[in-house]
Amino acid sequence: MKQNICILGATGSIGTSTLDVIRQHEERFSVFAVAAHSNVERMVQICHQFQPARVVMGTESACEQVKNQCLGMDIEFTYGIEAMSNIAADPQVDQVMAAIMGFAGLAPTLAAIRTGKRILLANKESLVTAGSLFMQEVEKHGAVLLPIDSEHNAIYQCLPQFTEGARGEMLHHVEKVLLTASGGPFRELSKREMSHVTPEQACKHPNWSMGRKISVDSASLMNKGLELIEACWLFDVEPKDIEVVIHPQSIVHSMVSYKDGSVLAQMGNPDMRTPIAYGMAWPERITADVAPLDLMAIAQLDFFAPDYERFPNLSLAADAWYAGGSAMASLNAANEIAVDAFLKGQIGFLDIAEINSQVLEQSEIYSVTGLDVVFEADKIARKAANDLVKHKVYL
Ligand code: NAD
Ligand code: MG
Repeated sequence: MKQNICILGATGSIGTSTLDVIRQHEERFSVFAVAAHSNVERMVQICHQFQPARVVMGTESACEQVKNQCLGMDIEFTYGIEAMSNIAADPQVDQVMAAIMGFAGLAPTLAAIRTGKRILLANKESLVTAGSLFMQEVEKHGAVLLPIDSEHNAIYQCLPQFTEGARGEMLHHVEKVLLTASGGPFRELSKREMSHVTPEQACKHPNWSMGRKISVDSASLMNKGLELIEACWLFDVEPKDIEVVIHPQSIVHSMVSYKDGSVLAQMGNPDMRTPIAYGMAWPERITADVAPLDLMAIAQLDFFAPDYERFPNLSLAADAWYAGGSAMASLNAANEIAVDAFLKGQIGFLDIAEINSQVLEQSEIYSVTGLDVVFEADKIARKAANDLVKHKVYL
């Protein structure tokens, strides 16, 4: 039986890699529904190449433009976030690739979870901001949650009993989760040097080709901070159980250290088609057109401790986790605003962590009793971050 796939964020970097894996296995997977914000040109290409049954765009105008370039095709076109939730929850869909960028992905990802499907989770911000609710819903609806973020996919693969459903039990034998980080393009820069970097430099990741927001997050190590929180929710651990390890080659995608001294690592070339293919075919394995790992050519793997002073976002993420409740949604919202402002040239690179820190500090923390609390915390933190961007008042 062919698996029907819904791709949320189909025009992005993860969306493109997902379509590539599907193209390689057309007998096994079919593109049933796709959603994206505003990239009309790419969406038209996707429609012509994959002929999905449903297409959702972020706005009415983007939707009309795509529709006009796909005349005569048997596709249902709609727009808006509710329509994205509807395609994610469609009973004809077997698997949902959650690859919208940022907090905007939360509602459609939850809609998919509530129908008990297989969720391929790339959109880490949705888990970071609504963690406890998100995991409760996964449990309640029996959804199969497979992490696509390369580090979490690696950890998942290194916790074999965990993957068979023995949550918790396996973790008794774990000494530490070793979360690797490339260190980003500014790994060796001083704070003074980082104060002058441009968005273009920040988006030039040494090993991975990714969307602009996650590229800036990788440069500021906020990505690792978000991933720290993501790992806590996924694997039922806390920041003290996780050690961030800088590994510039991005060959070891993360590790699990066991109490008997064994350390299991998952390795591979830095290519997101590996975790995507793993998630789509799990528990089987399929080809992904990823170049085999040539260890002789790589020759050397390095590991360093992170520098929390130059990259304060890493500690902020741990602080937000321990603060609990809505603190993680506040931190994420501040970061989304700050990164966007940096990409628009409104603030400097170091201002991102500064804004994150101030917003986290001034945010009231509420216990996450429902989704409304998460949306409210997000809204308040966005406003606070926007005010800081506007006035650039740092105390
Ligand atoms: P991207 O910027 O390349 O693509 C983002 C996609 O989301 C696009 O299709 C865009 O149209 C859509 N989108 C953006 N805002 C939207 C909105 N408001 N409503 C609906 N759709 C919207 O980003 P990406 O690199 O593909 O990353 C997507 C997600 O996957 C992020 O959460 C990122 O952290 C995560 N992720 C990416 C990588 C990677 O290698 N690219 C690795 C791990 C995790
Ligand atoms: Mg990652």
